[in-house]
Amino acid sequence: MPGKRNLWRASASTRVQAAALDRGLDVDLAIIGGGFTGNAAALEAARRGASVALFEGETFGRGGSGRNVGLVNAGLWLPPDDVIAAMGAGAGKRLMSLLADAPRRVWSLIERESIDCEATRTGTLHLAHAPSGLADLAERHRQGRAMGWPLELLDAAETARRTGSTAFHGALFDPRAGTIQPLSYARGLARGAMAAGAQLYERSRVGMVRRDGASWQLTVNGHPVRARALLLATNAYFDGIDMGFRPEIVAVSYFQAATAPIPQALRDTILPGQEGCWDTAMVMSSFRMDAAGRVIIGGIGNLEGPGGAVHLSCGAAQAAPDLSATGRSAV
Ligand SMILES: Cc1cc2nc3c(=O)[nH]c(=O)nc-3n(C[C@H](O)[C@H](O)[C@H](O)COP(=O)(O)OP(=O)(O)OC[C@H]3O[C@@H](n4cnc5c(N)ncnc54)[C@H](O)[C@@H]3O)c2cc1C
Repeated sequence: MPGKRNLWRASASTRVQAAALDRGLDVDLAIIGGGFTGNAAALEAARRGASVALFEGETFGRGGSGRNVGLVNAGLWLPPDDVIAAMGAGAGKRLMSLLADAPRRVWSLIERESIDCEATRTGTLHLAHAPSGLADLAERHRQGRAMGWPLELLDAAETARRTGSTAFHGALFDPRAGTIQPLSYARGLARGAMAAGAQLYERSRVGMVRRDGASWQLTVNGHPVRARALLLATNAYFDGIDMGFRPEIVAVSYFQAATAPIPQALRDTILPGQEGCWDTAMVMSSFRMDAAGRVIIGGIGNLEGPGGAVHLSCGAAQAAPDLSATGRSAV
């Protein structure tokens, strides 16, 4: 929110800084965008011996990576069978098995690169907001178990014990998943990439990209950069790059607000297992507990739009209205 403190920036334990590009470069791989995608790619390419330059127009994690809910999921919003039906058996199954392995990859990166990002490997709860939501979860459970995933379908009583709320009709527990402080993770990846020898630049906006024979020619802060390979990692934050291509973006607003740290007695009853939560409602909500004991609650909606007053009427936003984060993502 304008003039408000951003929760992730206020609570990030990992700091990293990079200079702005002030000269021309010639590299194997140029990466545009300093979020999870760009930073992780820079890290792995540099570890394999490539010369890498990454250009972030503002600061690392300025996009979705520095303002998301922080759920480390093992799948998509869509059930697996829908993904396979849309993509075909080959590509769909391959994507689902890559995503099933995603949390393990995140945890091992965090460990290998010693990233301090409040990682909790305690699973996620997909919560049934209504009987129809429970039917949806039962079907997801059936599909996931058929793929060999260790999902558990919980009844309303067990869901109430885990969340501290009787509002839900049941939940799908995914023990592979967990949560992170997303900005710290994005910054930790950037720090790891620099340590591996990649050149990372902040405040280095790519203005132009052209194919030049077997290479790419970029203009960054007015300086020429030549690269053998290019990774466009700008997500829904694609910012006016002149390259004869413009991604189609559908904006969906999402806000998050946090309570002040809550007393230990309450922490023993609200999410004692520290699972990250999201629900089955079409207008989806999420909540989780951070390391300081703040309950972070989010939902689809725009605090700056006409519905802002409705969203802010939730207790969390009233408790600490200066801590919030809004963002958008590619869909
Ligand atoms: C509110 C919200 C909640 C979400 N919750 C979750 C969740 O709980 N779990 C989950 O897995 N995913 C979640 N997501 C999705 C997740 O955040 C994104 O998929 C992920 O962060 C994308 O990372 P990225 O590196 O591809 O892009 P981004 O992090 O968006 O980075 C793109 C970067 O490109 C830079 N850029 C753009 N144009 C230029 C230019 N011309 N020159 C240089 N740099 C440029 C931007 O400044 C930006 O930093 C959520 C997203 C949002 C917005």
